[in-house]
Amino acid sequence: MNVEISKLSMTYPSGKTALREINLSLSSPNLIGLLGPNGAGKSTLMKLLVAGLLPTEGVISVDGKPLMKQERLLKARLGYFPQSFGLFDELTVWQFLDYMAALKGIVNSKEAIAAAIQSTNLEEKQKAKIRTLSGGQRQRVGIAQAILGNPHFLIFDEPTVGLDPEERISFRNLFSQMAQDRLVLLSTHIIEDVQSVCNQLIVIHQGRIRFAGTPAELIAGAVGHVGIFREKDRRQEAGLHITSRVNTAQGIVCRAVAEELPDFVEQVEPALEDAYLYLISREAIQ
Ligand code: ADP
Repeated sequence: MNVEISKLSMTYPSGKTALREINLSLSSPNLIGLLGPNGAGKSTLMKLLVAGLLPTEGVISVDGKPLMKQERLLKARLGYFPQSFGLFDELTVWQFLDYMAALKGIVNSKEAIAAAIQSTNLEEKQKAKIRTLSGGQRQRVGIAQAILGNPHFLIFDEPTVGLDPEERISFRNLFSQMAQDRLVLLSTHIIEDVQSVCNQLIVIHQGRIRFAGTPAELIAGAVGHVGIFREKDRRQEAGLHITSRVNTAQGIVCRAVAEELPDFVEQVEPALEDAYLYLISREAIQ
């Protein structure tokens, strides 16, 4: 499966431009992390990809054909986990998935539901009403409805919000498992979510693509721009963005990114988070 996005722009009726001339090429199998701060345009891009919104300009094509011309066909091949969606509290997990399967037009719905329940470890909860579930279990139901019918393109918008660390790890494993033979796009503003599992990253900020490539390439771009210093040695310096402060026996040690590191800063190897913050902070300066 190949998704080509070309010169895609989206301006909401309010006049707010959420995306500006996006060009991207996505192909399966792949687990792609879409990173960006809140308000960057991630959800807008995902809604355009599922044909939930019409772009103001530009084209999305799937396997060489425009998305709009094969919307119905694509819906069967697509699983979407939106940022906010209402689960039907009074339905049981199975009833909800049955309803979603009907909406998707899935033929062998019993088998499809059982498979989705198994993949998301919801067997014990299939007869429970959704209102009785924990936050993590509700997220699992959201993922189960996305993978119903085994779609080839999965889009997850901030699926790990509100999960505890253990649940986050098991979700990450689930995503990488799913990506073995599918195209999975995972939007998040949490670096740990993409760090160990994504082989391709897209960073979006203020409606523009700021980076597309491997995590190693993102890190390579920040070499020489990340350093540490003791807070007491700090002198006033413009353009130094502190990314963390840690209390140590030697006092407070700061980690920072900058276009040019001042003399009092000792250069260190960038981590993925540094590289991301460096990219975003550069954009803020420009
Ligand atoms: P993200 O998912 O990265 O947090 P969004 O795509 O939700 O970003 O939003 C991008 C920008 O578009 C933000 O400035 C947001 O306020 C604006 N926006 C999102 N949805 C709408 C809408 N329906 N009407 C007007 N502006 C919107």
